[in-house]
Amino acid sequence: MTVPTANPRPDSEIERVLVVSAHPDDVDFGAAGTVALWTKAGIEVSYCMVTDGQAGGFETDRDRAEMPLVRRAEQTAAAAQVGVHDLHFLGYQDGYLEPTQDVIRDITRVIRQVRPQRLLCQSPERNWSRLPASHPDHLAAGEATVRAFFPAAGNPFAYPELTEEAWTVGELWLIAHPEFNHYVDITDTVEQKLAAVMAHTSQHADPGTLIPRVRTMLNHNAERAGFPESHYAEAFTVIRLG
Ligand SMILES: [Zn+2]
Repeated sequence: MTVPTANPRPDSEIERVLVVSAHPDDVDFGAAGTVALWTKAGIEVSYCMVTDGQAGGFETDRDRAEMPLVRRAEQTAAAAQVGVHDLHFLGYQDGYLEPTQDVIRDITRVIRQVRPQRLLCQSPERNWSRLPASHPDHLAAGEATVRAFFPAAGNPFAYPELTEEAWTVGELWLIAHPEFNHYVDITDTVEQKLAAVMAHTSQHADPGTLIPRVRTMLNHNAERAGFPESHYAEAFTVIRLG
């Protein structure tokens, strides 16, 4: 094991969660079933989308200038399916993302505004066995978020231009990391997750094959976790600070 054993705080101790993702739809493929469980339990979950996903989709005749609005609307609808109504869009350009000081500062600002006890983002490390999950924007968003998680958000001397008070999150959940250490059984919320995935209509050229593919992936996660047969699970890497 190169990652420590997962030791997440019990959900009952968590009031707020912030999810940061590179593109609209990433959180729905990676974590929406778990998010639905959290909001059901009374946890407030906020989303922060770093880019507007302008380079996504398949419609060559669509005016690309429309895409930010289309994708923000789709993500807002997807979020509502899993009980999330607080969305922050940073407006960076899809396909050009780097973990620059501007990006880290903007994520730091959202962390300090939301003040979560748990932060969920994409892994900054490439997974060679699932390369599409390691899109360069995902790695960049993940790297920027991890740098904001530690040390920036909790250090009052980092980004002194920010007016928000420093905030230490303490717990980080990664999606699409090469090595998982935690699985969440999402059998009870899988339909909500699938509805959230399907809300990104501009991204699905063949919606008929998408749902079975996602179900199969979730089944495999459940199998790896040792959950009962025909259950569904999402996979994470959980890291605690200190
Ligand atoms: Zn993506």
